[in-house]
Amino acid sequence: MTPIDDNNYVETKIKRITLCPNTTMTSLTHHPSLHHHRTCSSLPAPISRRSSTSKTPNYLTTHTSPNQKRNRSRFNCSIANNAPITPPISNDLKSQPLLDCVVVGAGISGLCIAQALATKHAGVCSDVVVTEARDRVGGNILTVERDGYLWEEGPNSFQPSDPMLTMVVDSGLKDDLVLGDPTAPRFVLWGGDLKPVPSSPADLPFFDLLSFPGKLRAGFGALGFRPSPPDHEESIEEFVRRNLGDEVFERLIEPFCSGVYAGDPSKLSMKAAFGKVWNLEKKGGSIIGGAIKAIQAKNNSPKPPRDPRLPKPKGQTVGSFRKGQAMLPNAISERLGSKVKLSWKLISISKSENSGYSLTYETPNGFASLQTKTIVMTVPSYVASDLLRPLSLEAAEALSKFYYPPVAAVSVSYPKEAIRADRLIDGELKGFGQLHPRSQGVETLGTIYSSSLFPNRAPPGRVLLLNYIGGATNPGILSKTEGQLVEAVDRDLRKMLINSKAGDPLTLGVKVWPRAIPQFLIGHFDILDAAKFALSEGGFRGMFLGGNYVSGVALGRCVESAYDVAADVSSFLSRGVYK
Ligand SMILES: Cc1cc2nc3c(=O)[nH]c(=O)nc-3n(C[C@H](O)[C@H](O)[C@H](O)COP(=O)(O)OP(=O)(O)OC[C@H]3O[C@@H](n4cnc5c(N)ncnc54)[C@H](O)[C@@H]3O)c2cc1C
Repeated sequence: MTPIDDNNYVETKIKRITLCPNTTMTSLTHHPSLHHHRTCSSLPAPISRRSSTSKTPNYLTTHTSPNQKRNRSRFNCSIANNAPITPPISNDLKSQPLLDCVVVGAGISGLCIAQALATKHAGVCSDVVVTEARDRVGGNILTVERDGYLWEEGPNSFQPSDPMLTMVVDSGLKDDLVLGDPTAPRFVLWGGDLKPVPSSPADLPFFDLLSFPGKLRAGFGALGFRPSPPDHEESIEEFVRRNLGDEVFERLIEPFCSGVYAGDPSKLSMKAAFGKVWNLEKKGGSIIGGAIKAIQAKNNSPKPPRDPRLPKPKGQTVGSFRKGQAMLPNAISERLGSKVKLSWKLISISKSENSGYSLTYETPNGFASLQTKTIVMTVPSYVASDLLRPLSLEAAEALSKFYYPPVAAVSVSYPKEAIRADRLIDGELKGFGQLHPRSQGVETLGTIYSSSLFPNRAPPGRVLLLNYIGGATNPGILSKTEGQLVEAVDRDLRKMLINSKAGDPLTLGVKVWPRAIPQFLIGHFDILDAAKFALSEGGFRGMFLGGNYVSGVALGRCVESAYDVAADVSSFLSRGVYK
């Protein structure tokens, strides 16, 4: 297999650094299923981080074997230079029978589309194949378990919506589902303090993140006492400042945008990124007016009875699995069995003479081709753009316009005693985590209290924190070494969560996603429509675009949309229009 390259899809290498957290020495060993990961097998002696004046922390430069030194000199955030070695490619072109559907990409979108096709639409789509360039499924979903720790290097949790829970149950994971405590607080850093955010409208009057005038402004604005909407498509910042006031924007929504999109709210489109709220004002004349109309509409057309197999989450919570997010793609892949082809990188698409498409792949055994009636592209838009360029310049140009900023997931652990006393509730760190508005002088976007949120994430006496850093407002993280990223996170955490005198953290993983999350910027839907229109005008019937830049970035949106895409494919096949 050719390494997944910069032009198409990239995954930076990961270094596992082990540090001696003052008292214990933890050895982290190589995880066989994750060949992009590096391991440091020997440990440096305990090192005081404050004795280090160099930009690279001591632990990166001491006690290294010559081999490690060689490796460490490359431990900046460069592109997968330890990716798998290019396999020998034979000229053996293998023809396949005409498939009903090929799904390209085995991230959560592609797998859920394939699962829905293979189960709910098996009557019309019995021959479905999922092809994936990497040697693992899951795409952005990446869970690592080692030495008593279980951490996420991509998404950390999902909203347990009904479509998501349906996928969980259909994948046989009902008993593995874990849900966060809905009463656990979420915090926003403001004025040097971590302030709880309201978890329901009933909390609104009592929380102190907003001032009294700020709450009044938000309340009157939500009722409709605010400037009318402008003629142009509004950014999130414009919409929220206009409807709810400056404080709601600066203290709640701006950090929330970092949490969901790692994005810049002055550029993200309200309509594209938070369409449900945007629609409330549009349909009801104000946010509250729209909410009332939505409730009335719901009451007038009650939903069909809820699937009794689905678990009933309590309150506002988030979900994961006993062994982390990767359980879902792995379970779906297991169910799909030989329908999933790993290390199959799509390199070209052509229209077949008779019907459908001919797809050419690089595989570990050389080139291979598939013939299919329909194709669903769930690869990132920049990959789809490259693949479609020879077929439709207009579609390729449109798809090349979406921006994916870099994000790093930095997982660190501290002993419980390192948490500041004023942050403990009944002696424990409790809560989902914290978000950091850009105005508050910290670089880290937010921190998830992984070991508080879900069970069995860290050994007893240890706290596991997942930190996201980078995003649209800080693409410069790509020029930082992994050591510098850990230092930045640790420095930030000592401002509000960790005792300033605590020892160095144990660094578990630094995963840099050079192109992490598609930004739903102003004009997003116009660009997407232009791509779809170009494909339709070009006569590319049976070609469907999917993936997070189409559906929305949250895992729940990817799953929900997967059911819709599968229904579209099924309807297309049942009409026989590919002939
Ligand atoms: C750091 C990070 C944190 C996040 N946190 C959360 C969170 O907490 N909660 C949440 O709901 N969402 C979160 N998200 C968003 C969510 O993870 C993604 O939107 C979702 O996983 C995208 O899934 P996908 O299948 O659409 O795309 P991807 O996961 O990108 O899958 C696309 C697949 O296509 C494959 N591919 C690429 N090129 C080719 C080719 N030529 N041939 C074949 N295959 C190819 C790729 O290898 C990949 O597997 C996060 C994302 C990131 C990056």
